[in-house]
Amino acid sequence: MPQRFGLGYDSHRFGAQRPLILAGVTIEHESGLVGHSDGDAICHALTDAILGAAALGDIGSHFPDSDPKWAGADSTRLLRAAAEMVRSDGYEVVNVDATVVTEAPRIGPHVEKMRDNLAAYLSLSRDAVSIKAKSNEGMDSVGQGKGLAVFAVASLSRD
Ligand code: MG
Repeated sequence: MPQRFGLGYDSHRFGAQRPLILAGVTIEHESGLVGHSDGDAICHALTDAILGAAALGDIGSHFPDSDPKWAGADSTRLLRAAAEMVRSDGYEVVNVDATVVTEAPRIGPHVEKMRDNLAAYLSLSRDAVSIKAKSNEGMDSVGQGKGLAVFAVASLSRD
């Protein structure tokens, strides 16, 4: 069973007057993430990881932010669409793992709900979905709380 791996990364600035949404979970915070879509950086990084594992381009090539169709988009739709794309190419998503880097808010209390959501979007069992969180120890712009970043990997298999 050939296995493939993909890497994804995304970052967004805080400052939007809208809810903070990560992995489809709305989190109490002083501001949301600035972005053309809803700014859900976990969904964006995972979308890129899944597309990357199948060498199917990236989130910008499939859902360009120049297209008004994706303005304010529910990013869970993009993630589901990416999973659909790799399935039509003959792959199954095996597991995903992401690390959120942010000083605030605390991600830990939301991890289980995030895993449940992502498992549902990707048709995976929750033990195939991992979310972890770290601070940047005060270093650089993420460490100064200006935004957050997400690193993600996905593995796919094809019979
Ligand atoms: Mg993004």
